[in-house]
Amino acid sequence: MTEKQYDIAIIGAGPGGYHAAIRGAQYGAKVALIEKNKLGGTCLHRGCIPTKSLYASAHLIEKIKEAEDFGIEIPHYKTSFAKAIARKNRIVKELEEGIIGLQKGWKNDIYMGHGKILSGNIEDGFEVSIEKEEEDFKIIKAKRVIIATGSSPALIPAFKIDHERVLTSDDILNPNFNTISERIIIVGAGVIGCEFANIFATFGSKVEIIEFLPNPIATEEPMIIKLIQKKLEVLGIVIHLSQAVISVENTGFGVKVIACSADIPRDQRADAEKFIYEADLCLISIGRAKESDNLGLEKIGVETERGAIKVNPSTLETGVEGIYAIGDVVGGVMLAHVASHEGDVAVANALASLGNFPVNSTTIDYDVLPATIFTSPNIGSVGLRRKQAKEKGIDVLMGQFPFSALGKAKCMGEEEGFIMILADKKDYRIIGASCIGTAAPELISEIALAMKHGLTVHDIGKTIHSHPTISEMVLEGSEAVVGKAVHKKGRPIHPKIHYSY
Ligand SMILES: Cc1cc2nc3c(=O)[nH]c(=O)nc-3n(C[C@H](O)[C@H](O)[C@H](O)COP(=O)(O)OP(=O)(O)OC[C@H]3O[C@@H](n4cnc5c(N)ncnc54)[C@H](O)[C@@H]3O)c2cc1C
Repeated sequence: MTEKQYDIAIIGAGPGGYHAAIRGAQYGAKVALIEKNKLGGTCLHRGCIPTKSLYASAHLIEKIKEAEDFGIEIPHYKTSFAKAIARKNRIVKELEEGIIGLQKGWKNDIYMGHGKILSGNIEDGFEVSIEKEEEDFKIIKAKRVIIATGSSPALIPAFKIDHERVLTSDDILNPNFNTISERIIIVGAGVIGCEFANIFATFGSKVEIIEFLPNPIATEEPMIIKLIQKKLEVLGIVIHLSQAVISVENTGFGVKVIACSADIPRDQRADAEKFIYEADLCLISIGRAKESDNLGLEKIGVETERGAIKVNPSTLETGVEGIYAIGDVVGGVMLAHVASHEGDVAVANALASLGNFPVNSTTIDYDVLPATIFTSPNIGSVGLRRKQAKEKGIDVLMGQFPFSALGKAKCMGEEEGFIMILADKKDYRIIGASCIGTAAPELISEIALAMKHGLTVHDIGKTIHSHPTISEMVLEGSEAVVGKAVHKKGRPIHPKIHYSY
């Protein structure tokens, strides 16, 4: 059998892998993209996109409740979770078809099946097998390999996940899951847990969240956490903080969750005072496990650490020359745009090492890394939080501006929340920002661009922002750093601050 030859074989077609495959083709490489499930990966089928589609439905319910104030009477409306799911499934399908079309357009070969590295080295290239039930085992050859196999929900034996009542996010986002329960318990108040809580509660479920840490979404600024916690509570969500879940089980007619205080050591929890919670179903949302098993890594010499593939943190090459790894399977910040960006870097390095492609080798820079949370209101952040800046010894200037003071936000009925922008006192360069409120994730993108190019709050102040727009939050927030926000009362401009005009 003659093996097909490629410049790059990419294992896994999530946002890391499918993006890398297109980038490779754009540089003129012959690319094989291997996927065992569906093109689009977690992000498209079990993550970002389905949750944001459901969030959009939930947000519309919220807006309908305010319709009268906007001059529209909607006395009778009925929500249908099943229809929201049907819309979500349609969106996912359309985007999946789009990705398939793009790969075909770029003439990338798609192999459906489980990919595994069999043998090889940087000089001779690598043999990669593709295995699919009821189909012949295929072997292809590639000069370089990129592993982009992603992650899956973390499983803990004591939480008896049965995929009927004790569920993971994969179960909930399964296209056939279309009935909402009356009472839902969510274990874990991280980003995913809070996003689901928001959706379920808006569709009418009674939601309880149990979280080990003393705060939900612990990585955000304390002021943001405080506001989102308040908002979740307004939706009727009960959050039990500082509790360690000991067991979760399907009782046959519901779920029973047993917890105790989080400060009790693990070995003493059996005798500790227990808190018992009951509901119709339970979502376990406690983290993600890296998908690094059965890839032939051990045989070829690629090292892992607690499941994460070890890579050079600058080039994303593994310890085996010619094999790269990107995305969730590498660990770090597990977000779709991080996976895609890592794909860019790995492809550039892989092709630069081959020598005959129009791209140079490069290194990755995680300093400017925006993150978003689609609760109501939305949250966006980038760069440093105040605590981190302090730990780094940076003297910080902070500017805050509320949505309630912005004309456009008022018109939209989106007055909740604020933006806070941090700058280094020595040169006014922006070092971070956090925002909670409408379009927060979009606003953060402007700050990310400014940070990437080392801009100061004065640079943003001097940039004309269209009026009336939500983008003026960034303008006013930047000006607030130096006491110049026009639509906010404040103190006179500090005499030591130098203005370029
Ligand atoms: C509920 C939820 C919501 C999320 N929301 C967001 C969000 O709003 N924004 C955001 O940035 N991130 C979000 N994420 C995270 C985001 O989905 C991941 O960070 C992203 O999908 C990682 O991309 P990846 O390409 O590394 O891996 P994945 O998307 O996991 O893709 C890996 C692919 O590899 C395939 N694969 C695995 N092993 C093999 C093999 N041996 N052979 C062939 N194929 C294989 C898998 O089937 C999968 O398709 C969310 C995640 C979840 C669970």
